[in-house]
Parts: sequence; C-alpha cells; structure tokens
Amino acid sequence: MKQGILFVMSGPSGTGKGTVCAELLKNKDNNLFLSISTTSRNIRAGEIDGVTYNYTTPEKFREMAESGCMLEWAVYGGNYYGTPKKSVLERLDRGENVLLEIDVQGALKVKKAFDDAVLIFIVPPSTEELRRRLESRGRENEDQINERIKAAEFELDNADKYDYIAVNDDLASCVESIRAIMKAEQFRARRNTEFTERLKK
Ligand code: ADP
Ligand code: 5GP
Repeated sequence: MKQGILFVMSGPSGTGKGTVCAELLKNKDNNLFLSISTTSRNIRAGEIDGVTYNYTTPEKFREMAESGCMLEWAVYGGNYYGTPKKSVLERLDRGENVLLEIDVQGALKVKKAFDDAVLIFIVPPSTEELRRRLESRGRENEDQINERIKAAEFELDNADKYDYIAVNDDLASCVESIRAIMKAEQFRARRNTEFTERLKK
C-alpha cells in the first residue's frame, strides 16, 4: 500500500488558512483528511470540542507531550497546540493524505522529522488586507490583532523554508492553486518508482 502524503499549511493568522482548508475538504476526490489538533486554549463561540480542536488543560497537554504522543507541538499566543501522532501515522499508512494546519514552529519540526512532508505557506495580498480580515472576523480584540500582525513578521521570515507559497487574494484561485500542488505532488518521481520498477522485471 502506497503511503499517503503529509501536507502542512501555515501562514499568518487571518490570512484565510481555515477558509482555504474548509474549501479543500469539501472536495473528497483528493483523499484528504484534516488532522484535529489538541490545544490548551479556551474554546471559542462557534467551535466544537473534538471537531475544531480537542481541548484540554495545560497540565494534561504537557503530560501528552512528555509521553511522546505528539508529532509536534508548539506554544502560540501563550497556549499549547499539538498534532496527535497516532491518528496521523495511521491515516498515512492507510494511503490517505493528511493536512495539518499548524504554525511555523510546528511545521518546521514536522519537516525535520518527515522529510517527505509538503509544506505550503499561505500569504495575504497585503498587511492592510490581513488587518482588515482579522478585524472583519471579529474574534480578537485590537491588542490581540496587533500581536498577530507582529507574529506574522516571524512567520514571513520563515516562508522560504516552505516548499510552496500561495497568495490568498481571490479565494477560489488560491484553492485551485493548492489543489494543483496536491495533485502534482502525487506524481513526484520518488513516490512512483513502483511503476518503473515493475516494468524492469
Ligand atoms: P486563518 O485561519 O488564517 O486565521 P480565516 O480562515 O479565519 O484565517 O480567515 C480570516 C477572515 O478572512 C475570515 O473572516 C474569512 O472569511 C476571510 N477570508 C478568508 N479568505 C479570504 C479571501 N480570499 N478574501 C477575502 N476574505 C477572506
Ligand atoms: P487559533 O488559536 O487561531 O485557532 O490558532 C493559532 C495558531 O495555532 C494558528 O497559527 C494555527 O495554525 C496554529 N495551530 C493550530 N493547531 C496547531 C498544532 O497542532 N500545532 C502547531 N504547532 N500549531 C497549531
């Protein structure tokens, strides 16, 4: 059975990663599944435990991280966020593609552990538009928005370590570009040597 591909998406908060992921998952033909992260942050209005995140306490999160059941974890905005190892590895072993929507620190840890992971960085068309999106989402207060825009500077400094950069200006074009990246990755020579090997026999 051919291994699935691990896709990792990051980008400044408010860029539209969640929106892009939701669009990507609407179409089942890419055999793509979103990994549900565990976090110690408080649940927000509209979020569902076990669907948006698995919510836990900082103490329990630290226990989980220490017991080695996280593929990666990081602290963002004072809260813990981590990717569960078992469910991701099981899906990849079943040949399913897995999408992680995680921050830059986590993405770079994944790339270190899984050289085969495909890292996609999403950028907003401008800082003004990023602020507008954060404000229009209405989830963070002014201080938190400024903090997220400041964090974007560190994130953008690391974008060159990713395999792909896509601009989320027009949503439909951005989603189409990412679908094209995902499709092309399935045809990488190193993932398809079986087809040439069997002809040599
Ligand atoms: P992230 O997950 O990166 O923090 P969200 O998906 O929550 O970002 O998007 C932030 C806000 O921007 C939301 O209100 C969303 O509807 C809006 N948004 C996302 N993509 C676009 C786009 N291409 N054009 C305009 N607004 C967008
Ligand atoms: P939010 O609190 O807005 O849901 O997420 C804040 C940040 O945490 C986002 O950049 C998001 O991508 C990141 N994040 C979500 N889950 C994980 C995870 O499992 N690991 C890491 N490293 N970051 C995550």
